[in-house]
Formats: sequence, structure tokens, C-alpha cells
Amino acid sequence: MKWFGVRYKIFEFLLLVMPKVYVETYGCWLNRAESEVMITILSRLGYEVCSSVDEADLIIVNTCAVRSETENRILKRLSELRRVLEGRSCRVIVCGCLARVRPASILEVFPDAILLDPNSIERIGEVLNLEPGSLVFSDVPTRDVLPEFRGGLRYVVPIATGCRGNCTFCIDKVARRAVRSYDKSLIVEGVRRAVERGAREIFLTAQDAAVYGIDRGYTLVELLEAIDRIEGKFFVRVGMMEPSEVMRILDGLLDVFKRSEKLYRFFHIPLQSGDDRVLKLMNRRYSVAEYIELVRRIRRELPDASIVTDIIVGFPGEDEEAFENTCKVVKELEFDKVHVARYTPRPFTLGSTMEQIPEPVKKCRSRVLTIVANEVALKRNMRLVGSRVEVLVTGEGQSERGFIGSRTRSYKLTFLKEARVGEFAEVYIERATPIYLYGNVIRYVH
Ligand code: SF4
Repeated sequence: MKWFGVRYKIFEFLLLVMPKVYVETYGCWLNRAESEVMITILSRLGYEVCSSVDEADLIIVNTCAVRSETENRILKRLSELRRVLEGRSCRVIVCGCLARVRPASILEVFPDAILLDPNSIERIGEVLNLEPGSLVFSDVPTRDVLPEFRGGLRYVVPIATGCRGNCTFCIDKVARRAVRSYDKSLIVEGVRRAVERGAREIFLTAQDAAVYGIDRGYTLVELLEAIDRIEGKFFVRVGMMEPSEVMRILDGLLDVFKRSEKLYRFFHIPLQSGDDRVLKLMNRRYSVAEYIELVRRIRRELPDASIVTDIIVGFPGEDEEAFENTCKVVKELEFDKVHVARYTPRPFTLGSTMEQIPEPVKKCRSRVLTIVANEVALKRNMRLVGSRVEVLVTGEGQSERGFIGSRTRSYKLTFLKEARVGEFAEVYIERATPIYLYGNVIRYVH
């Protein structure tokens, strides 16, 4: 007993002296997953994750560069951190897309930061003792360390970085260049272990999930088939996929989605514009007609699938007729959800050198398209009222209103009055809005 007390004291002491890392992440699921990669590497070096700046010996700010508002928010946060950390020996590493795109602006507000670009995240352990103000940039990304599953229902898995596009509005391309995919067996093993430890929802995330494996001689389809063979009941969400890359693997993709009981029937495929002239100006690699045929084929073969898209309004060169064409395509394809974004020029992109459209015009188009998108989304959701669907009770959202969130097989957010988080259930859909469904649990399924 006395010996146990001594060992416990030593354990307490070790916890006390373990260096603490605080991580702040901005942006997309890929960024969140890559923060987990860095946490995994640091945990293996003896770091312990803490939840506040005050306790931290090391702070990681994983940034996003997609919009100017986010950039300004991050720079403001960094100058605030600099003030708070005045006189404290706490290292600060700024990583993510903004570190690669705006190193000078970041070092202006935080000269002692160490900058690490997205391609170099696996070198986090090496940079801890570098001189303040050091830049660690790599042109060739490495992707060999998967994040450790740290519990909960959802395991977010980065499967690749980079893309093959060169869109004239996109800053990601400036920050993340070459495609680098994780090894398929590493991902499968990571998912299997996470499911064994309680994960019920797997997010496969990348800059472009459809380009997965192109640098390793296989495709996303083979990865999904391998994950589908893993024992256990869980749902898998595939992240955003570029249309031109989806078209390349479509036959196999539809086949595995039709056979699998695990894949959310959910496709996030950005259209960006419904006008061919604007698509050319954006340097997108498909035509409106090809995109329409792609969505129609998915709808034919997977009628219950959710199709979500991204559309930029106000890109240079978009006149009223082009905008009307975009609205027409949204009405015709009846997307389940449209992320509408007003174009903001980003540095080092061709789009920022083009003649810009006035903000009020962008605002007006954004409002109009959002109304059109909600109308068709409601129509899609109303079809499910009165039906029975299977859900995973995830517990996300609206707890303040006494609802418990769940996700249908087509990844529709469905709120339930009573439900057991982490369970699969058959649900009766009672009502719908453009964004949510509401229903009741009929029975739990195993
Ligand atoms: S394909 Fe996607 S990530 Fe790549 S440049 Fe185009 S928008 Fe950016």
C-alpha cells in the first residue's frame, strides 16, 4: 500500500512537470485533423494538452487563409496573445495556410513566433527549439503520422493534402501545393482502432478527397472499399471532392456507395458557378453541362443521396446573365444545401488582379441565391416528412432547445426530443425546414 502511495506521488509529479500544449485551430476539417496530428506527435514527446493559454508552455495557432475576415481575426488574436504572454517563456508556433501565405504579416504582429507551413506539420517536434522568427517551409509534404483517436464519437481522419487544380480564386493552392496521400493501410488501421475504441462516425477529410491516392497508384474507391470491410457499425463521411476528380473515379465511387452500409450517402461537390464563361475565368476543369450530368447520374443511382455544393457569387466577370444561369442550375439540380460565399480577392491569386465587382452587388446576389437555395433545400427535405429513416445519434446542436442531434444515412441533421447519444436508431420524420429535420425515435438498431 505504502509503495502504491509513492508511485502515485511520482505520477502526480510527472503530470506536474509534463510540458503543456494549448492548440487553437481555425478553418476546415483538414486543419482540425492536422492539429490532431501535431498533438499526437507532441504527446509522444511527453506533452500534455491543456485547455487554456495560462497553463501552456507551448501554444500552437493553426491558421486558415481562405477569407480576408479570417486573416484579420487571426492577426488580431496573435497580437492579443503577444500582449498576454509578455514576460512569460512560452513558445508560440503559428502554422497552417496563413503561415505560408502571410509570413511577414504574422512576424510583424508576433516577431518571436516560429512559422510552420501545412506541408511541414510532421516536423513539429523538430522546430520546438528553433530561434524565434524561424520559418519552416517544405515544398514536398510528408504524410505518415495519423492523429491518435482521443475518444468521443467522431474520428476525423486526414487522408491527403494538396490538389491538382489551379483555381484563380483559391489561396489554398498557394499554401498547399503538391498532392500527398496517406498510405491506405495506415488509414484503415487507424479507423479500425478508433472504431474498436468507440468511434461511430468517421470523417475522411482532405483538400480534395477525390484526388486521394493519385500519388500512390490507387484511388479513393479502394480506400472506401477497405474501410467498408472493417468490422463494426459506424458511418463514414467523405469530405469535399472536386467535380473533375469525381468524374475520373465515378463508376467505382457510385458502386461502393451503393453497396456500403457504412458510407453516409452524402456528396460535397463544389460547383462554384453555373455559368461556363465564369467557370473559365475561375480556371475550373469542367463545364456546367458536365457538372449537371454528374449530379444527375448520382441522383439516378443513389436517389436518397444528399448533394451539397459551394457557390461563389460576385467573381470578376460575373454579369447578371451569368448570375441568373447559376440560379437556374441550383433550381434544376435541387441541391440539399448550398454554401453561398461572396467572392473576396486573396493575395497571390489571379482573381485578385481582375476587375472587381462592387460589394453591394455581391451582397444582393448572395441574398437572392440563398433564398433560391433554401427553397429547393426545403423541397428536398419535405419529401422525407412521414418517412422512417435510420440515424446515428450524434448529440450535436440545439441542446439549448432540448433537442438532440442525429444524422440520417444521407447526413441530414435531424433533431430528436429524446435519444441516446452514440446509438443508431430508426426515426419517424415529423417535420422539415430547409436546414433541419425533426422526428422521434421508433426503436434502436444494432
Ligand atoms: S481544386 Fe480546390 S483546393 Fe485546389 S485550387 Fe481549386 S479550389 Fe483550391
